[in-house]
Amino acid sequence: MEKITYRLRRQRRKTLVLKIENGEVVVYAPLKFPTEKVDAFVVSKVDWIRGKLENFENTKGIIDEINNLNKVLLFGNEYNIELSDLKKTIELTENKLLVPKKYSDEKKKMNAVVKYLKNYAIEFLQERLNYYSNLHSINYGELTLTNAKKKWGSCDWRKDIKLNFRLILLPIDIIDYVILHELSHTYYLDHSKNFWNTLEIYCQDPKQMKQKLKQNSHLIETYR
Ligand SMILES: [Zn+2]
Repeated sequence: MEKITYRLRRQRRKTLVLKIENGEVVVYAPLKFPTEKVDAFVVSKVDWIRGKLENFENTKGIIDEINNLNKVLLFGNEYNIELSDLKKTIELTENKLLVPKKYSDEKKKMNAVVKYLKNYAIEFLQERLNYYSNLHSINYGELTLTNAKKKWGSCDWRKDIKLNFRLILLPIDIIDYVILHELSHTYYLDHSKNFWNTLEIYCQDPKQMKQKLKQNSHLIETYR
């Protein structure tokens, strides 16, 4: 069997802990715990480690592509970014995002793409939020777009809703879940049983959607 390389960190602790940190396997072990036993422990977790590392490589790949401006992701679909002589403004085609040559400088290109996505996001998310608000007769205050580092959305006691502009990178069923989740917060601000029961009225299988959102959580690291 292929050997798994890992970093061993000895600590004043009682148990072994295995973690994947930034693509690296790290084991935290008690000070005098035998190294052979750590090896055996790592071998016993090989499937879990492989899965995590593979996942890390996949998500890192797409994040690099996005942050290097080779690709954009819209509603879960990938588009290659290409510079165009002919265009004066950014334009989305069937499989490309055409960016005018005047933005060829990396920084200008980044600003232009982010601005394009934010404009797209506010228009789309506002319309989608209004659609569900009307459909289910749920009132909310105001919508604001955010650049949050950890949160896809939030709702406060004034019923104002905030949505991360990166939501439009995600598949549409996940966007809908986040919107319905925040609209349900206009009734219950916490994540109590009542909250989930309310959300279930509007959203099929919200727990599964929550899981799907979690699988896309790495996309919140784009455009930083
Ligand atoms: Zn919530």
